Amino acid sequence: MVGYEVSPVRFGRLAAGLIPAGNGFLLMGKVSTIITIDVEEWFHGHNYLEHIPENKWDHLESRVRAGTDLCLELLDRYEKKATFFVLGWTAERHPEVVRQIQAAGHEIACHSYAHPVVFELSEEQFREDCLRARQALADAGAPDVLGYRAPSFSITPAVHHYLDILQECGFRYDCSLFPVRHPRYGQPHSPRRPFRLQESKDSLLEVPMPTWRFLGQNVPFSGGGYLRILPWPAFKLLRKFAEWQNIPCIVYLHPWELDNYKPQVGQSAATSLRSQGGQDSMPLKLDRILSESSCETLQQYVNRLRLDDNLDVRKTFAVVK
Ligand SMILES: [Zn+2]
Repeated sequence: MVGYEVSPVRFGRLAAGLIPAGNGFLLMGKVSTIITIDVEEWFHGHNYLEHIPENKWDHLESRVRAGTDLCLELLDRYEKKATFFVLGWTAERHPEVVRQIQAAGHEIACHSYAHPVVFELSEEQFREDCLRARQALADAGAPDVLGYRAPSFSITPAVHHYLDILQECGFRYDCSLFPVRHPRYGQPHSPRRPFRLQESKDSLLEVPMPTWRFLGQNVPFSGGGYLRILPWPAFKLLRKFAEWQNIPCIVYLHPWELDNYKPQVGQSAATSLRSQGGQDSMPLKLDRILSESSCETLQQYVNRLRLDDNLDVRKTFAVVK
């Protein structure tokens, strides 16, 4: 089995009770809810991509505006701010969407240029994709993006050193690690809590996706197919359990998950379930989350973390066979 070792250079203090080591004091008390939206077309989802080559993208129906508009309306209704990870490809074709998100006061971050599976890219290809994405976002009016999220959380242990490339490319935080078992992106042994790559407070800060730790396993709940398929009471319970472990609820969703568009492109029934199951429930779930949560953007959360002298620093990520 492939995993990776982490070498914590410095652990934070051990807080009492249910709060394990690391970044204890700033996060005690009310745990954040952070809404994040990966702004991409329906066909960028990797469940569809295997049926649709990139040279067909420009000929397919664009739905990104409809889903993004609905998301912005809900956020506006509850006067909440969110972080939008925008695909460079989408920013080039719909710069008005970037401007609309910015005008509403939300954070723009980066979701790659062409939605690659990162662990299939060479270092140079990954660097090129990052820089092309930054340029596309800058051209659309967002030159100062700080955050990055890999498509399908595909910064896996084998390419963990690519986090250094993100730092080189000007990103200040990353939200690409998902410490769960999954056939495409699972990395159950990665840290569950934020950490810095280096001692410097300016170092790239990693914010893993939230999980609830139960019986030695990490349980996901906060977005995508997990959020779509989970009944609302189950989501609330898992969120509460994770909060007791001092894990913020970073919700992630896509414009196409808020849409009622359900394309058939030759995918199997199982793939349809993964990509469309529970789709009708997403607008109501987002509405409920917004109505009962105090929200902040990822940038605001990261800025608070940077003040935490006890934040873990982890430098070594060796692949273990
Ligand atoms: Zn994506």
